[in-house]
Amino acid sequence: MHLEALYATAAKLTGTIGRIHAASWPGQAAMLFVDEIVSGMEELQADILKLRGIWAADYEPAPVVRNRENIKGITGVLLAHWEWAMQKHPAADEPYGQGNANPGSQVSGWYRAALRFTKQDEQREVKRLAPCPGCRGPYLVESRELRLVNDQPYIECRDPDCQRILTSAEYDRYVKELNAAILRPAA
Ligand SMILES: [Zn+2]
Repeated sequence: MHLEALYATAAKLTGTIGRIHAASWPGQAAMLFVDEIVSGMEELQADILKLRGIWAADYEPAPVVRNRENIKGITGVLLAHWEWAMQKHPAADEPYGQGNANPGSQVSGWYRAALRFTKQDEQREVKRLAPCPGCRGPYLVESRELRLVNDQPYIECRDPDCQRILTSAEYDRYVKELNAAILRPAA
């Protein structure tokens, strides 16, 4: 998603400046999605810092800037105050769900939205994987349905006659062996 957002920025500079009313360049949906989450994070940051008296109640933070440093900064602030936010925020006891100020509920909402968004992200489909170790066909894909091990996706072969399944670790090992085999004759 991050790479796609960067690509979209580059594409925008080549001639679509100002045309922001329609999805008119690759990756724009990802940019809008990131914007939405980042502005939500900024609001939550301001909410927490004002409640804790670190920012004055009438302090107006600078407009949202979406870049890696800024997002890292906000994430750091939220993490630093997370224990307080989960236990002492006035809305911490509100039930999880849409439309309330419970920080945990907000963050889990972003997380669910990110999962939904990346599942729809066609660019993940075209990620190039090595030939299948079972059938040698170009049918390996990252599985979205199988459960994750250590937060890593499974790699599965889409050839119905093969259906080979690898964990991410097994796949990485396989690619290393493959590379070693390719390099060996040259050595
Ligand atoms: Zn296969």
